[in-house]
Amino acid sequence: MSITAAPAQTLSTPQTTLSQTTLIPVAITRGDGIGPEIMEATLRVLAAAGAPIAPLEVRMGEAVYKEGHTSGLAPDAWDVLERTGVLLKAPITTPQGGGYKSLNVTLRKTLGLYANVRPCRAYAPYVATHHPKMDVVIIRENEEDLYAGIEHRQTREVIQCLKLITQGGCERIVRYAFEYARQQNRRKVTALSKDNIMKLTDGLFHRTFDEISAEYPDIKAEHQIIDIGMARMATQPEAYDVIVTLNLYGDILSDVAAEVAGSVGLAGSANIGQHFAMFEAIHGSAPDIAGQNIANPSGLLQSAVLMLEYLGQPDIARRISNAWLRTLEDGLHTRDIASDQTRQVTGTREFADAVIERLGQEPQHLSAAPSREAAAQPQRTAQPQHTTPPAESPAAPIAKQLVGTDVFFEWSEPGRDPEALARVLQSAQLERMPLRMITNRGVKVWPQGHPHTSKSDHWRCRFLSDGPIVHADVLELLASIHATQLDFIKTEHLYTFDGVPGYTLGQGQ
Ligand code: NAD
Repeated sequence: MSITAAPAQTLSTPQTTLSQTTLIPVAITRGDGIGPEIMEATLRVLAAAGAPIAPLEVRMGEAVYKEGHTSGLAPDAWDVLERTGVLLKAPITTPQGGGYKSLNVTLRKTLGLYANVRPCRAYAPYVATHHPKMDVVIIRENEEDLYAGIEHRQTREVIQCLKLITQGGCERIVRYAFEYARQQNRRKVTALSKDNIMKLTDGLFHRTFDEISAEYPDIKAEHQIIDIGMARMATQPEAYDVIVTLNLYGDILSDVAAEVAGSVGLAGSANIGQHFAMFEAIHGSAPDIAGQNIANPSGLLQSAVLMLEYLGQPDIARRISNAWLRTLEDGLHTRDIASDQTRQVTGTREFADAVIERLGQEPQHLSAAPSREAAAQPQRTAQPQHTTPPAESPAAPIAKQLVGTDVFFEWSEPGRDPEALARVLQSAQLERMPLRMITNRGVKVWPQGHPHTSKSDHWRCRFLSDGPIVHADVLELLASIHATQLDFIKTEHLYTFDGVPGYTLGQGQ
């Protein structure tokens, strides 16, 4: 049976038509450290609950890295992923340093898994937390931002990392958050960004949020600056419902939220794309406790529950979820969540046995798996409509005009006096595109800099015309600069879009 994703439909599409009797092929990878133990426990619970899945093993992780595959994936892994479209993944140990790229980032970006969904709910009093009413879902953009991993050493002193944000990426993740909120009967979506500082990148995200939120009048929308948002997540998490944010902020925030809810060991996550989905615990491979049968399998089990919902199996998802909640209520806890509510500290295997014994039971105090009837995750057959990848989005007719260029230099003459640099550059400038500003690490140091501003060897020098220019003007400028023997290291062209500058001012300009 082909199980490639059905065409996108609305979220209210009825349950998938996948037959209960047909096994759904699902790729699984056992991971490193505690991965094999928690995967074994999870698969046993899935089998006992009657989950109609056929696991297909793929090899990823430390051993594969060591075989010389720097991606961490065995060569046949892509074929299996292509066939299944779904991956249940145990944590992987990422070798530090070297030429290794993060396997997770590779999977997310290669498979277009643009939405990372992390529910963080408190299970008080059975799992200790200061915030018993906490029930937050963090929706993190998963493909863009600083995770583009484009870094360059530019001078002896300065290294840069590019933060890339696209309009299509912002639209997809914001719309996903609102569709998710609507489907889940959640009341509010909070966007977190730092657009007071990053006015263009984070500004685009905030503006997109404001535009799209207007299409969802039934859901409250608010925006907060990420720093206060992060602080409030640690102190008043009950104030949040659904949060949508950019990649790096979401990465940090979701770990904070999981810890505040009780333990990183409990939370699962879904990585959702148009055609693929990957489900994994949010914790790592915990090599410090590997092989001891003490790891908590709950994070991976929760991920498997999210996977079953995605596969259109909400009844089995609910069955597992409720048995798991009942296990917590009955005081059977792994070591990491042991408290005065614990009746017996169990090992990984015994915890799975306890969940299996309780299949068919409901929790008595904790609220049962929340509104699973509606399915907690957008399903494979019911992905949000407006999720066209950015590359396929038709470009809006915007008038783009070249008006200047920022030329970056490595320059460390004694004294590092910007006046001296400006004098040389003014001797090379074109009359129609004069030097307007020099910044150092973004702070304006010419004209009229502040003598106490510390200066690196990395200088951004802005040549701006009063009207349209062409590439030949930039080349002429660079040829003229070349004659001065200054070391120019890169250029960034300055454009206006429909007359609006596509570049920021220097700090202090
Ligand atoms: P970690 O999450 O593996 O461990 C942090 C702490 O939490 C450790 O003390 C560990 O014992 C404990 N812990 C984690 N999961 C637990 C569980 N299920 N039950 C009980 N205790 C648990 O983070 P780390 O130590 O920073 O990273 C270890 C490795 O995992 C690194 O190589 C890292 O790159 C990798 N990692 C992988 C993923 C992933 O594959 N998704 C995510 C994060 C980290």
